[in-house]
Amino acid sequence: MWYKLTKEEVLKELRVDPEKGLAEQEVEERRKKYGENKIPEKKSKSFINIFFSQFKEFLTIVLIIATLISFLLGEIKDAVAILIIVIINAILGSVQEYKAEKTLESLKSYVSPKANVLRDGKIIKVDIEELVPGDIVLIEEGEKMPADLRLIETNNLQVDESILIGESVPVRKDADFVAQEDITLGDQINMAFKGTTVVSGRGKGVVVGTGLNTALGDIAKMLSEMEEEPTPLQKELEKLGKQLTYVILSLVALLLFIGIIQEREFFDMFLTAVSLAVAAIPEGLPTVITILLAIGVQEMAKRKAIVRKLSAVEALGATSVICTDKTGTLTENKMDLVKIVLPNGEMVEKKDYKKQKEKIRDILETALLASSVRVTSDGSYIGDALDVAIYKNFEETYGNKPENLTKVDELPFDSSRKRVSILYKVLSEDKYLLCVKGAGEEILQRSNTYQEENVIKPMSVEDRKRFMEIQDLLSKDGLRVLAVAKREFDEIDERDEWEKDLIFLGFIAFMDPLREGVKEAIEKCKEAGIRPIIVTGDYLLTAKKIAEDLGIDVDSGSTYTGLDLQRQDLDSLDWDSVVLFSRVLPEQKMNIVKELKERGEIVAMTGDGVNDAPALKMADIGVGMGLRGTDVAREASDLVLLDDSFATIVRAVEEGRRIFDNIRKVTYYLLTCNFSEILVVSLSVFLGYPLPLTPIELLWINLVTDGFPALALGVEPPEKDIMSRKPRKLNEGIINKSMWKNIIIDGILIGIAAFVLFVIGSKENINTGRTMAFTGIVFSQIFQALRLSLRKRKSLFRERFSNKYLTLAVLFSLFLQVLVVFTPIGIRFFNLERLSVREFLLTLVLALFPIYLLTGEKIYEKIFKRNINL
Ligand code: ADP
Ligand code: MG
Repeated sequence: MWYKLTKEEVLKELRVDPEKGLAEQEVEERRKKYGENKIPEKKSKSFINIFFSQFKEFLTIVLIIATLISFLLGEIKDAVAILIIVIINAILGSVQEYKAEKTLESLKSYVSPKANVLRDGKIIKVDIEELVPGDIVLIEEGEKMPADLRLIETNNLQVDESILIGESVPVRKDADFVAQEDITLGDQINMAFKGTTVVSGRGKGVVVGTGLNTALGDIAKMLSEMEEEPTPLQKELEKLGKQLTYVILSLVALLLFIGIIQEREFFDMFLTAVSLAVAAIPEGLPTVITILLAIGVQEMAKRKAIVRKLSAVEALGATSVICTDKTGTLTENKMDLVKIVLPNGEMVEKKDYKKQKEKIRDILETALLASSVRVTSDGSYIGDALDVAIYKNFEETYGNKPENLTKVDELPFDSSRKRVSILYKVLSEDKYLLCVKGAGEEILQRSNTYQEENVIKPMSVEDRKRFMEIQDLLSKDGLRVLAVAKREFDEIDERDEWEKDLIFLGFIAFMDPLREGVKEAIEKCKEAGIRPIIVTGDYLLTAKKIAEDLGIDVDSGSTYTGLDLQRQDLDSLDWDSVVLFSRVLPEQKMNIVKELKERGEIVAMTGDGVNDAPALKMADIGVGMGLRGTDVAREASDLVLLDDSFATIVRAVEEGRRIFDNIRKVTYYLLTCNFSEILVVSLSVFLGYPLPLTPIELLWINLVTDGFPALALGVEPPEKDIMSRKPRKLNEGIINKSMWKNIIIDGILIGIAAFVLFVIGSKENINTGRTMAFTGIVFSQIFQALRLSLRKRKSLFRERFSNKYLTLAVLFSLFLQVLVVFTPIGIRFFNLERLSVREFLLTLVLALFPIYLLTGEKIYEKIFKRNINL
């Protein structure tokens, strides 16, 4: 019962010095004893499991039973052949599914949160799994509690414990509290629990429980893991798959029925019907989508975009608006303090700081005191980029830090306050000093005097206007501007009374260079019909200049401020032309997303703060930041940028489009192939011919031509117009109307070609007919894959091998088929007839149909200078 012990007792019990932390060696020993600080997740499916689940399909079971029967009936060779093909099919399917599982699993470990911990007297960052009981942990706003802690220091620390106690009002923590009796979790205000989030303030605590041995662990033990929702595309395909299943099953039943009326051999007919159903029902489609999405996730990870939800991959491909913040995403967030402006308008450039040392001492020192920067053991600075810049410039100018002050309390920064205040006690005198920095409007509103050459003067309305003009002037150059102020008092009053009657000291201006590649990315967006909208907490003029520098046409677009959003009816804004929102509160971000979504846009929104979480959740694609930003924001997002850059979002969009195109291609391909198979069998049955394809052949087609080329189509490189066409409408399904039409036409052409081959060959004998139909349909399907791959390339000839997997798959499938048709083993195994050269050439000529179509399409494009849509 840690909450009943005093801090000292807890530290003693856990044998740790709160100033030094544990020694590494001690950490090792404790880790052996207590294990890793993680809550085990659901076990993933094993390969064997996945393999056997391949046989759960009802039709596959029917097929296997039928095969066993034919085995008993003495058709040993055929039965063995069918079983072998079914098993190879299942193995291939399992390998793919297993790989997809593994990829998705590895996702989870990409963005593993870290904690600041004190060890061997130094503050270091470690993965939270590595924490052990006794570790001294520092926590701050936006972080997730890494373990159960007994707090030993609290600084306005407020924690959201809703995941544990269901109460969403933040709990104010107090390290000095000691309970006298047993109390519930919610009342243990000297404790902090794993998984809860810091809403504001900071604190320090000693780890008392890790992994399953935490309050969260107790719950996790009770709850079963939540399954991931299928993505919209997966759902759509599942539905499509079901519908196709019904259609195909009815058709197959009809064929069987007609076959019986025609007095065909029942068992042959039955086996063929089942094989046809197994081959033609695209039961593998949803899995294919999962695999392609998983591959996409992997590709995006290589490009520094970590997908946290599979559905984000699909939505990315349809993104029409990207709402992006400015600092750190469009700019580097590597600030330098380049100008200081005093209330009298005197401007001091960076190169003159040393020369003007005395003049700027008060403002720079106050700014420093209003910052929080920690220097790590290796000499790097941890803290807000602005604060670090102030710190560095102060050090360069004066060398040492001001002394004779101790920090008492602080009102921390948050994006709605737009300011920071830190309260100090002046040691030599009996008084307090409040140091404030923040957005100009906020500070000037709360100041009633200003300091000029050590004289404090009252601030008139004109003065205030004059100061605002200074801010505008600086902002117009794209500088980020902060106002600095202070206040001295003898007695401290209530916290919310602190920030008033301030003495304004002047402005400090920061330069934040544009990120490399962002300008090009914005350009790309424009071409691709995607609208970038800057949504920033910064000042309008600063943001405007940055936008202009990036090539966004601010003058013909509209811009709004947070105040506009507050005052105006959201409907009255010009949403079609808006390019910039400035001085926006995090809460307003959500309204912006909502409004855009209602207008039919697919919205990506970036965010880094705790209060950005609702907007991130509301967006179609919430984009979190890997470098800066809080755990809370990352957790609420669907996509995390490892490098925080806007350009990465655009690359992810491009990848999303590519994946969608490929899903389309694979679906289109499989449907044309399956349709042609059904057609050739149905035609023969209806017209009273013998069966054109044997069960083994049907299953083989399903394996060889539906399998390898289809997979290879899934990894096609981007099409030529990938970033120059408009975003896809999200409600436009995988297969649209015109695609259905084309699928049917293609299927008919391939199917009829095979049927014609069958009829011609049958004149010689039935086996020759089957061999020709079989070879013809396999070849034309392979060529169809080639056609789908090539028809959206810029240059057919130069890019003919640009998908090397497809080239390999095509060659491999052709090779296998040639092996089957031309080797004695193949001929025996499949019951084929050796084809003469003339017959083979005829087969080839008819099977090349897709290539003729491709040529036609290309010629059409050349003549009419128009792209053919798939
Ligand atoms: P953004 O990241 O979009 O620029 P923020 O919400 O981070 O927006 O910042 C909004 C405003 O708050 C800034 O323009 C600045 O005036 C003020 N501000 C930002 N960071 C600090 C800080 N560390 N200390 C004081 N004020 C700050
Ligand atoms: Mg910011």
